[in-house]
Amino acid sequence: ATPAATMVGTAIGAQNGVLFKGGDVLERAKDVDTVVFDKTGTLTEGEMELTDVVVFDADDQPVPDGGAAAADSDTPAIRDRLTEDDVLGLAAAAESGSEHPLARAIVEGAEERGIDVVDPDEFENVPGHGVRATVDGGEVLVGNRKLLRDNGVDPAPAAETMERLEKEGKTAMLVAYEGALAGVVADADTVKASAEEAVAALRERGIDVMMITGDNERTARAVAERVGIDPENVRAEVLPEDKSSAVEAIQAEGREAMMVGDGVNDAPALAVAHVGTAIGSGTDVAIEAADVTLMRDDPVDVVKAIRISDATLQKIK
Ligand code: ADP
Ligand code: MG
Repeated sequence: ATPAATMVGTAIGAQNGVLFKGGDVLERAKDVDTVVFDKTGTLTEGEMELTDVVVFDADDQPVPDGGAAAADSDTPAIRDRLTEDDVLGLAAAAESGSEHPLARAIVEGAEERGIDVVDPDEFENVPGHGVRATVDGGEVLVGNRKLLRDNGVDPAPAAETMERLEKEGKTAMLVAYEGALAGVVADADTVKASAEEAVAALRERGIDVMMITGDNERTARAVAERVGIDPENVRAEVLPEDKSSAVEAIQAEGREAMMVGDGVNDAPALAVAHVGTAIGSGTDVAIEAADVTLMRDDPVDVVKAIRISDATLQKIK
């Protein structure tokens, strides 16, 4: 493009809340044939809320009426007396050391229920899997199936509960206490109002739309279905350090990919993508790694970015 065309395109972008980092980005965006969206905070609001607490009793069965019923029963076993609030309180204490949106929703949900969230004696973050902490002298795990397995706790008894919650698009997390399954907590996020429209507009232009997330397969697919992304285009359970190689693998097929993300985890993937696009409210690390920033946090502006690039270059051809 001529310097004048680039200036016009950049200015039109800015007016629309689409910030291009330089003229070469503006030129590259028109060639994008695949858009890869991060899920949390990009297609969804990223504001998690605690939605469910399920207690598992000593026989590893979900307690139908929550912990309260178990507490009132004559069963003397201590594990039978874990209430919903106990499970949530343990999970919140363990998560109080974590900055993860999933963790913050658990702590806030516990506080809203009037639970006194204590500080853990020890705390360890297990990136991509959860947290491990010592609360009141007992070991607490909160996280995915792999976290429990790696720490010698069998997540299998919670399989049905986990699947039910995940099919609803929620992120379900297992809670273990002193080496045994204690319960399941779930957080849910709201899909952005325009996410579906953005996916439809991209597909109309012949652009393939994909989703990449660290979240589990079932939750990822439930969200993908809501926004119109094909299940085979979902890459789930991708570890933070593997997001960029996932984008590289997509590009190795000869595709020109735009990665759209908001998190620290997304930064390497934004850097390797043909075009990296950051959500404006995302982390500084993501914005620095990206070529384009969407100031309105709106997925529809991805289409605008491509359209502006297209229009700018067509004019000067
Ligand atoms: P995302 O890509 O959605 O940001 P992450 O890579 O951070 O996800 O985490 C992947 C999965 O690991 C989560 O879906 C969750 O099951 C588990 N996990 C990560 N951090 C935590 C945490 N602090 N508490 C509970 N579970 C967690
Ligand atoms: Mg994200």
